[in-house]
Amino acid sequence: MNDILLLKQGEIVLKGLNRRVFEDKLVANVRRRMAHVGKFRVYAAQSTVYVEPLDGEADMDAAFEAAKQIFGFVAVVRAAACPKDPDAIFETARDYLSEDFARARSFKVETKRSDKAFPMTSIELSQHVGGLLAEAFPEVAVDVHEPELTVRVEVREAAAYVHSVPAPGAGGMPVGSCGSAVSMLSGGIDSPVSTWMTAKRGVHIIPVHFFSFPYTSELAKEKVIELARLLAPWCGRMTLEVVPFTHIQEEIRDHCPEEYFTVIMRRFMTRICEKIAVENRCGAIVTGESLGQVASQTMEAMAVTQEPVKIPVLRPLVCMDKREIIEIARKIGTFETSILPYEDCCTVFTPRHPRTKPRLAEVLEAESALDVQGLVEEVVMKKESVPIYR
Ligand code: ATP
Ligand code: MG
Repeated sequence: MNDILLLKQGEIVLKGLNRRVFEDKLVANVRRRMAHVGKFRVYAAQSTVYVEPLDGEADMDAAFEAAKQIFGFVAVVRAAACPKDPDAIFETARDYLSEDFARARSFKVETKRSDKAFPMTSIELSQHVGGLLAEAFPEVAVDVHEPELTVRVEVREAAAYVHSVPAPGAGGMPVGSCGSAVSMLSGGIDSPVSTWMTAKRGVHIIPVHFFSFPYTSELAKEKVIELARLLAPWCGRMTLEVVPFTHIQEEIRDHCPEEYFTVIMRRFMTRICEKIAVENRCGAIVTGESLGQVASQTMEAMAVTQEPVKIPVLRPLVCMDKREIIEIARKIGTFETSILPYEDCCTVFTPRHPRTKPRLAEVLEAESALDVQGLVEEVVMKKESVPIYR
């Protein structure tokens, strides 16, 4: 059987002159993701990306699953290709969908015809194929209003395609089409979701993790690597930057007032991320902060946290409830890993009474006890780069 994937382009269809650039990115992303499940011809035509296996070895189940995690498509369809001939289309539908027919009690045929030179209209072709299918499966009734099975026929330039239910695509824009960003990835529930949401808008991600060994264990690092791996089918290949954070935290603990520990620590994180962003030509820093969730996530604390840097700090979760965030975490497959018990660097030396409304002047005064630039440069130099494949 001539099994093929038809990936229906989403928002980029609305792009004007740049459309080619987006489409090329999309095709390149699909090629890369499909490379580990077989040999395919991947090409774009008529707002669709076609994934055609080149031999019998290609794992079409795996290709179909992978396609659902590629940003830029509204729908993902697994179809059978056949010649643009009404009887060939019927035979293909009969054989390819025989299991669907065995389960259904009613069906209809729906035709889309983008090849306007095809000699039959869509309705004529639906009626022709539907009539033959009704004869072939006499126990399945024709029902054009609420059928259990819809046989979809697409007549396109190169061939005709037959399929049943399209799966929803991942939506969004092709990763890499909207620049790059550094994303702060902890081991919690929120930051994998904010990372995913940013990648969904076409952003290539450089995840950064702050690691407080030995206060947080090697296991905490492994957990973040695992989270990054779970994100890779969505975000594509990434390099996780693990920044050793212990020295900075000890310096803050030893030289700054306890109530300011968290906000000063977070200012360091922002500065370090900016430095990594500049080195990698990233346009923004992403965090999983949500307004009011904890003391460091008030508007006042956010203002002080982002004060040292010029590039935008994106907070995709800022107005989301925990419940909504968890729903996405489950959907994208990071939740179960996120809830494994772990220590985050933010829980090391946590003050008993953190300031929820820090005053910048006081923070700057407290920070003046530290060699800020020197510390930032030191840890960026010592960071460990972990390549993340899927
Ligand atoms: P999360 O569930 O993502 O850990 P959280 O609700 O626990 O978030 P905080 O611990 O205050 O919130 O952290 C807020 C954001 O700061 C996180 O979403 C993440 O983007 C970033 N962050 C916190 N700790 C780290 C870390 N160790 N490494 C990298 N980023 C971190
Ligand atoms: Mg956290």
